[in-house]
Amino acid sequence: MRRRVRFCIALPFLILAITHLEAQSLHAGDANGPAWLLPYREPSARLIGEALGSTFAWDRLAILTDTIGHRLSGSPALERAIQWAVAEMTRDGLENVHTERVMVPKWVRGNESADIVEPARHAMVMLGLGNSVGTPADGVQAEVLVVHSFEELDAQAASARGRIVFFNVPFTTYGETVRFRAAGPSRAARHGAVASLVRAVGPAGLRTPHTGALQYAGDAPKIPAAAIAAEDGDRLQRMADRKSKIVVRLRMEAHFDADAESANVIGEIRGRELPDEVVVVGGHLDSWDVGAGATDDGGGCIVTWEALRIMKKLNLRPRRTVRVVLFTNEENGGRGGTAYRDRHRAELPKHVMMLESDGGVFRPLGVSFTGSDAARETVKAIATLLSGIAADQVSPGGGGADIGPSVQEEHIPAMSLDVDGSKYFLIHHTPADTMDKIDPVEMAKCAATVAVMAYVVADLPQRLAR
Ligand SMILES: [Zn+2]
Repeated sequence: MRRRVRFCIALPFLILAITHLEAQSLHAGDANGPAWLLPYREPSARLIGEALGSTFAWDRLAILTDTIGHRLSGSPALERAIQWAVAEMTRDGLENVHTERVMVPKWVRGNESADIVEPARHAMVMLGLGNSVGTPADGVQAEVLVVHSFEELDAQAASARGRIVFFNVPFTTYGETVRFRAAGPSRAARHGAVASLVRAVGPAGLRTPHTGALQYAGDAPKIPAAAIAAEDGDRLQRMADRKSKIVVRLRMEAHFDADAESANVIGEIRGRELPDEVVVVGGHLDSWDVGAGATDDGGGCIVTWEALRIMKKLNLRPRRTVRVVLFTNEENGGRGGTAYRDRHRAELPKHVMMLESDGGVFRPLGVSFTGSDAARETVKAIATLLSGIAADQVSPGGGGADIGPSVQEEHIPAMSLDVDGSKYFLIHHTPADTMDKIDPVEMAKCAATVAVMAYVVADLPQRLAR
């Protein structure tokens, strides 16, 4: 090859060809990644350094959860959290900080209890299911029918009448097990049950009940429903195995008040060249009314917001706008997500990408992504900038309940923050969802992951492919 080069009269052409080959190899991806990625190494390192250089995100979440606490839709606490977020985003120097009004359902738990009265008295550890109706003031008292599947319930339909049906299904995956919480009450009601209990949807903890929403079917009577701790489920099972007659009294004051005014909270870093094109990041500010809503989803709100705060602090203004949205009412209505879609419908074609963080802020692994193959290649290249904090995985299946309505409307590329989920369902929707479960360094790495993804996608020379 050398000899040919030395004597070749077409040397200029060969040099051109080699330069072209080098350029091609850069585009195809060499050890340093594609050429367009190189200018992002330095700002990414600064974003990561800033996120990891302090415990700002953790401290901010501790303030939210300690001074405001849990934030059920329609509660004064959620309203306080919204006002607090607006004031803090303004203090951070974010732009276009404002709220967008959303009417939300106001479900109120009230006092509640579930007691075994036969064969012996035992108070169970329980939580009424979100959106459940209550019981009469003196409760519902009935014999218990224990089942382990919908098929078993249907097979024993005759024995369900007048009973309290207990779905005792040990946790496998959330998707598999949550069916009994969501649909179980109406399935039982169709067979004449007077109330429904479900084994808490989560791995057995330390006698921890998990709340969460139920969905009543339109064609079944609405019966009160509650989750009981795994240990109480095990006790009912032992009694049933001994063929004991089990009688339970369930008391719940749960009810709906009139819809309440709430809001999505929005803040931005306006794009320097294409401000109308938008990358959205966010989580949901509402939570269940137990614990402190630290993991679900205060942490998701704070790490996505933190991405903008550190961009502002480092004076990194991407080509396009980055917008943080703290959605309202994810847990028991999803109205924040649909309100965002409806209000921003005309602007959705200019949404370049949407990212949701609602799986906890534990050790980040990277992101999940749903979009075109071309976009996925771009996202994979960006993710290499996160290899230093081991958050460089790109998995399929990005999205989230809040961004879902907008993403589906316009086929917007969708991302979710991926974290080590091993602890998530232990504390999900429980009184144990508190600040102490969250590690400041892991949380800072989550913020760094979101910051790098959002910044680079918002700054790309060419818009992320649809
Ligand atoms: Zn959530």
